[in-house]
Amino acid sequence: MESDVAQILLSTERIQSRVREMAGEIASTYESSREGLTLVPILAGSLIFLADLMRELPLKMKIGLVHASTYRGASTTPGECEILLPPSADLAGRDVLLIDDILDSGRTLRAVTEQLRALGPASVRTAVLLRKPNRKPADLDADFVGFDVGDDFVVGYGLDYNNYYRNLPFVGVLRHELVQ
Ligand code: 5GP
Ligand code: MG
Repeated sequence: MESDVAQILLSTERIQSRVREMAGEIASTYESSREGLTLVPILAGSLIFLADLMRELPLKMKIGLVHASTYRGASTTPGECEILLPPSADLAGRDVLLIDDILDSGRTLRAVTEQLRALGPASVRTAVLLRKPNRKPADLDADFVGFDVGDDFVVGYGLDYNNYYRNLPFVGVLRHELVQ
């Protein structure tokens, strides 16, 4: 599997230390939150980021899983954004932190944020591990960002290609001939 990777962009150690820093930023933002924090991770890309981040957050919290996907199968170009909110998500009056793997075109974050706001949370913020600054729209950003990356399609640390490579412990670029 690792031989499919052309270049490692972010090592395990770099990711770990940045995730720890982000947890510090997030913890101080919600320190005095009276409403109660609910993490809303967007599956499946945010799985690994979520697991590492939440264990660094010394806050009382709930979790509400959301399923959203813009890429279908082996494609690397976005299609329609499909979102499945958990019917049990009890977000009214709570401080919601949406968590995703990467902010690319922003379609996912925009669509999910809109649906969440309709449920009457006290606040909605977003945390992403990666951001592609050249691709994101000017009017949308995440509140907490791990790393800015270039335009290449990346995999690992939760990010997939055709649902493979999520378990790579680093973020890397696939060998060109493997990507359609
Ligand atoms: P957006 O809606 O911002 O265009 O894209 C966000 C979603 O697209 C992410 O949650 C992620 O699943 C997927 N995505 C965007 N860029 C990449 C990338 O470089 N690699 C992978 N594996 N997924 C990506
Ligand atoms: Mg995703």
